[in-house]
Amino acid sequence: MRRKLVAGNWKMHGSLAANQRLLEAVREACGEPGGAECVVCVPFPYLAQAASVLGGTPVAWGGQNVSEHDSGAYTGEVSGAMLRDFGCRYAIVGHSERRSLYGERDSQVAAKFQAAQRAGLTPILCVGETLEERNQGATEEVVGRQLDAVLNNAGVQAFAAAVLAYEPVWAIGTGHNATPAQAQTVHEILRARVAKRDEALAGSLSILYGGSVKPANAAELFAMPDVDGGLIGGASLVAEDFIAICSAAANA
Ligand code: PEP
Repeated sequence: MRRKLVAGNWKMHGSLAANQRLLEAVREACGEPGGAECVVCVPFPYLAQAASVLGGTPVAWGGQNVSEHDSGAYTGEVSGAMLRDFGCRYAIVGHSERRSLYGERDSQVAAKFQAAQRAGLTPILCVGETLEERNQGATEEVVGRQLDAVLNNAGVQAFAAAVLAYEPVWAIGTGHNATPAQAQTVHEILRARVAKRDEALAGSLSILYGGSVKPANAAELFAMPDVDGGLIGGASLVAEDFIAICSAAANA
């Protein structure tokens, strides 16, 4: 059985004082072994703070991005080894904000995925279509292309140590989540695409749903057979909401 996983994506939010309260609350509520796996992906400057509050607990932390390069003259970039130095276990790659605001292409996302794995991190690979693409009936083509770019470069075996996240762009930060049925349909498509290359591996791959997950809709989304948890933006900044979502995942 796949373990449920809930990852918070704080984006560019936080301060030392606010983070301290949030991390301590998450540590107290989500620190029980055996529940859903709980991860917070914090801005780079706060990784040391996450490590200091969460170290020694079952709550993991990670980066929201990672360079495709291992080291070198890449001003402003952060490598996988640097994330590992701060105890990260995860790195988000290919978030739609990175794709749309910073021009990350499929090939670059694939390179980041591989760089994360070279450093010993578990990549959380995000794929998802825009509203326009959905309305054109191109959802499967878009998420398939985004997934294949990584499968073709890294190989299917790389997904034994990775997490996939379906994040429809039209649902991110809009308050309009995909319905459980819409999410399930795409998750099934993604799992089938991996299964074409390795059926057993596809069966054990965690596929998260992201896009306006809140305490009020988490349980019904996580009840879908191919939804293995969530990637949570806005609600991960509110301790009681994030904790409620983690507990919905644990009980799914
Ligand atoms: C995200 O940024 O990955 C996300 C899912 O955001 P939100 O939960 O705010 O829609």
